[in-house]
Amino acid sequence: MAYQRTGFGEDMKLQTVPNAGAVFGANAPIGLGGLGGSPDGPLNIVHVFWIAGMSCDGCSIAATAATNPSVEDLLLGRIPNLPKVVLHHPVLNPGAGTELMRPMKAAVNGELGAPYVVVLEGSVPDDQAFPTDDGYFSAMGGGGFDPDTETDQPNRVTDWLWKLAPGAAAYVAIGTCATWGGIPAAAGNITGSMSLMDYLGKDYRSALGVPVVNVPGCSPVGDNFIDVVQAVLLFLQGIAPLPKFDDLGRPAWLFTETVHRHCPKAGYYEEGVFAEEPGDNQCLVEIGCWGPVVQCNIVERGAINHMGGCMVAGAACIGCTMPGFPDKYSPFYKAPPGSAISGGMSKMYGGAIRRLRRLSMRKLNREPLWDKTGEVPSPWAEKHKKPTGTDKTMSFFYKKLQYNNSVNQAKRNKKQPIPQSRDILSQKGL
Ligand code: SF4
Ligand code: SF4
Repeated sequence: MAYQRTGFGEDMKLQTVPNAGAVFGANAPIGLGGLGGSPDGPLNIVHVFWIAGMSCDGCSIAATAATNPSVEDLLLGRIPNLPKVVLHHPVLNPGAGTELMRPMKAAVNGELGAPYVVVLEGSVPDDQAFPTDDGYFSAMGGGGFDPDTETDQPNRVTDWLWKLAPGAAAYVAIGTCATWGGIPAAAGNITGSMSLMDYLGKDYRSALGVPVVNVPGCSPVGDNFIDVVQAVLLFLQGIAPLPKFDDLGRPAWLFTETVHRHCPKAGYYEEGVFAEEPGDNQCLVEIGCWGPVVQCNIVERGAINHMGGCMVAGAACIGCTMPGFPDKYSPFYKAPPGSAISGGMSKMYGGAIRRLRRLSMRKLNREPLWDKTGEVPSPWAEKHKKPTGTDKTMSFFYKKLQYNNSVNQAKRNKKQPIPQSRDILSQKGL
C-alpha cells in the first residue's frame, strides 16, 4: 500500500506502509526490529477521523481531558518520533459542513494521500437495511458518497464506517457504546444498536492488518485512550512493538486487573467491614459494587489528571467497562449475587483478622520507652496508660516470633537508660 509522505501534493514521494498483519502471523515483518513501519522512513502525518454514532459525546469530553499525553501533544506533534495527527472531529473541528466532510470523502475515495485512523464514539445503529431515502438513526454530513451524483439525504454513520473500513490503518472504538454496544444496546432499545466489532464482523482487519482496538468505559479514562492511540502510532512508525491486546481487543496493560485489586477500600473488604448506605467509608460491595469481577484501571490512573475515579470518590462500581454493561449489572443498587458467598466469608475470617490486628496496633502504637515506664506521657492517652494483662501476654509471644533468629531489640531496649524528661527533672527540683 502506498501513501504520500506529506500533504496532498502530486509530486511528493510515496511512502510504503507494510502489512502489519505480520504481527498476526502473515507476511515477513518490516521496520525496526521486525515491527510495523515503512522502509521509506517514518510517517509524517496521520489523519484521525472521529465519528460519532449513538453517542452522548462523553467520550469526546473524556479524551480532551487526557493529560499524559494530551490531545494537544498529539496534534502539535510534541511526542518524539510520532507523526503529526490531523484530527477531524465533528465538535472540535474549527470548520464545519463541507470543510469537515471533504477529507473524509477523500479517504473513502482513496484520494487522501496519507494514512488514516478511524475512531468511533457511540454504538452502531442497525439502520443499514433501511431504504436510502427512508431515515436513519445516526448521520454525519450528507450528499452521498458518489462524486458524480449528489443526494439530499444525510450520510448514515453506518455507511461511513463501512466505506472507511478497507483503507483505515486502524479502527479504534472508544467508550463502552462503541466497544460493546453499551447503553444504546440495552434491553428495550428500538435502534438495534451494536458494537463496532459486531458491525464489522469477526474477520475484519484494517488495511495494516490490525483488528478493531477497544478502549471501553462509560465514559472512558481519557488517558487510557490517548495512551492506546500513541502505542498504535508508535507501532505504525516501526519504533515499538504492537502492545499486547487481550482476546477482546482491549489493551492488556490497562484492562487485565480487576478494579477491586487496586481499590482504596479493598482493605475494608479483606477485614470484612462493609458500607450500609452510600456515603459510608467502608467497602461498597453490599450496596452494589461489582469491582471484584470488573476489569478497569480507574482507581490507579484516576479519572482526570490522575485524580478521582469511582471508589476514590465513594461510588460503587457498576461495571461500565464490561461487555455486559448495563443489563448484566442491573439493578445497580443491589449487591452482586456472588458477594453473598465472598462477602460472607470475608466477614468471618476478616472479622477475626481485624481483631487480631487491632491488638497488634495497641502494642505498636507505643514507644519502647513507654513500655518501660508503663505510661504514655500525654493527657490524650488516658485509655492506654497501663498495658493490660492481654497486652503483656500478647507482647511476649509477639516478640518471640518477631525476633526469632534475629537481634532482640526488645532486650536491647531494656538495657537503655531511661531518658530524663524535663517533667521528672522539675519534680526533682532541678
Ligand atoms: S468498594 Fe468495590 S472494588 Fe472496592 S473493595 Fe469494595 S467491592 Fe472491591
Ligand atoms: S470502577 Fe466500575 S463504574 Fe467506575 S469506571 Fe471502572 S468499570 Fe466503570
